[in-house]
Amino acid sequence: MPIYVYEVDETEKGCRKCCGGFEVMQSLKDARLERCPECGARVSRVIQAPGLTHSKTDLHYRAKRAGFHTLKRVQKGEYEKMY
Ligand SMILES: [Zn+2]
Repeated sequence: MPIYVYEVDETEKGCRKCCGGFEVMQSLKDARLERCPECGARVSRVIQAPGLTHSKTDLHYRAKRAGFHTLKRVQKGEYEKMY
């Protein structure tokens, strides 16, 4: 079964589970998640397929993980210890 990556919406606060993105194993038939199972924040699916590391989406995802998101969380002072 494919593993999908979800990430919390920019407008949501998120929790430890979703603020840095999380993976869910789902079959193709399953409906995509709309809410974080932990905190109920809205999430959106980020395409991440093994071997497609140069796709636009994946680069975007990596960039967010590497910089933007981390900075944002650090500024809020909530997740400093995680990084
Ligand atoms: Zn959450």
